[in-house]
Amino acid sequence: MQTHVQRIAKTGGPEAFEFVGTALPEPGPGEVRLRATAIGLNYIDTYHRTGLYPIDLPAVLGQEGAGVVQALGEGVTDFAVGDRVGSFTARGAYATHRTVAADQLVRLPDDVSDEDAAALMLKGATAAMLVEDCGRVEAGQTVLVYAAAGGVGLLLTGWLKAIGATVIAVVGSEAKASRARGAGADHVILHRDEDIAARVREITGGAGVPVIFDSVGKATWQASLDSASPRGLIVSFGNASGPVEGINLGVLSAKGSLFVTRPTLFHYATTPEARQRYADKVFAMLRSGAIRAEIGQRFPLEAVAEAHEELEAGTTIGSTVLIP
Ligand code: NDP
Repeated sequence: MQTHVQRIAKTGGPEAFEFVGTALPEPGPGEVRLRATAIGLNYIDTYHRTGLYPIDLPAVLGQEGAGVVQALGEGVTDFAVGDRVGSFTARGAYATHRTVAADQLVRLPDDVSDEDAAALMLKGATAAMLVEDCGRVEAGQTVLVYAAAGGVGLLLTGWLKAIGATVIAVVGSEAKASRARGAGADHVILHRDEDIAARVREITGGAGVPVIFDSVGKATWQASLDSASPRGLIVSFGNASGPVEGINLGVLSAKGSLFVTRPTLFHYATTPEARQRYADKVFAMLRSGAIRAEIGQRFPLEAVAEAHEELEAGTTIGSTVLIP
């Protein structure tokens, strides 16, 4: 069996990808073979490519995808050949075919397309984790969301609106502002033109916000500290501008006894049951109309380097899907 994969042998820029054909072994015990139908692009893929998050190399990147079960390894009883499945916690999705541990898979409902699943599972599960498990956001709270027109950001905004929160969205352009408003954002801050913390104070009558979802990292850490209300929570969950380093804990006290957490979904979606639960929540939110798949761009798998360039340049809107 042949597969075609986007592989990196060493860390680097988007040019590090090699699109190669390679033999795919039969699935081993507990594994299945999948034919990919749609693959999700995520910012974490860029961290793996650059080495910000070190992984063993050579490696096939990609955390998120939908596909059809083609063959079962020994002992796999939960899935059958022909089942539509998805995964968002097992690296190696940049492939036309792959073998993957069956316990990493979630079932896709009939009313969710493969493309939507590939666009939504990881990013939507992240939104669920952020709102429900990290921020424990309550109706009536005002929440600050960075990169609100991005893949996670649009889902997070829709999710927060669905539970009755007020969303202050931070975005990089007018086009993104209108997308964030379309997802339900109540206020929009254009970070290239406006002082984020000053605008947050203005919008909240000086109070600041009790919960902040910061995926930008280095460039916005200070704005997040300056935007929090006393005993507020900063959920720092990404590094689009670089990692936040060298935190002086005293600053949390000085800014109002703040709380900070730096979560990763992989410490929340730790079991097959938890993964299916997150996926089912995302699909239920999709069904309710609270969130949309928001596929802003599609690239053939061959063009993954171009997709990475656009994601890192901040020119993508919503989710990006790679077509195998
Ligand atoms: P996005 O679609 O949100 O793309 C990143 C966006 O970040 C850009 O479009 C841009 O939006 C904004 N941005 C701000 N500053 C920069 C900068 N210096 N360079 C590039 N982009 C910048 O990506 P994803 O939806 O895939 O991921 C969003 C974030 O969520 C990432 O940081 C990712 O690591 C994190 N994440 C974390 C998870 C976890 O478990 N902790 C799980 C999933 C995602 P704008 O122009 O509007 O500022």
